[in-house]
Amino acid sequence: MTALLDGIYDGEMTVGELLGHGNFGIGTFDALDREMIVLDGVCYQVRGDGSAQRATLDQRSPFTVMTNFVPHITGTPPPGLRRTELASFIDELQPSENYMYAVRITGTFSEVTVRTVTKQSRPYRPMVEATGDDTELRFRDVTGVIGGFRTPVYEKGIGVPGCHVHFLDSRRETGGHVLDFTLASGVVELCPGTDLSLGLPLTTDFSRAMLAPEDLDHQIHTTEIKQ
Ligand SMILES: [Zn+2]
Repeated sequence: MTALLDGIYDGEMTVGELLGHGNFGIGTFDALDREMIVLDGVCYQVRGDGSAQRATLDQRSPFTVMTNFVPHITGTPPPGLRRTELASFIDELQPSENYMYAVRITGTFSEVTVRTVTKQSRPYRPMVEATGDDTELRFRDVTGVIGGFRTPVYEKGIGVPGCHVHFLDSRRETGGHVLDFTLASGVVELCPGTDLSLGLPLTTDFSRAMLAPEDLDHQIHTTEIKQ
């Protein structure tokens, strides 16, 4: 994640390789070319206009988090659950912040606000600048899936601490990186994780990147949360 913040937008791992690590995940593509969401073993690429298409196996990613999703814990939140309340709802379901959780919310959303990063060209700008021209879209009264991860604070820099989730509608046609949502009705499923395997690219860009910036919290908040 810190490499992405530093403008390292090209990775080495292909979608085909990533799918070998799990059937569920979120991330982005090389050159920050749109948002990724993997559901049921299918990798989707979400465009700036919010439309989704299947990614091809040879596309590459600079940042993706993957797991095999097994819904060990299930809960039905009260109607009107917002993005800001998701972490505390997860705490009610599983009161330990010390594990990684894959999160899947399936249901009807009265509102989902997403953004989609735009494809960058070299020389790459840092992500705080690159995400300045994101497109924001709002979907209303949609059914679909919000999928992603709740990452412990101690894993900051490897992932996005807190909840990082992407959306895909039930027809698999629209989605994006979720900035906010209101769940009208649905179910929240959690898959706890106790193993973390980290694959780093053997590239010159990565080897020269600044991976421990002093304002890491600010950069993550500006690029991923925005509110
Ligand atoms: Zn995202």
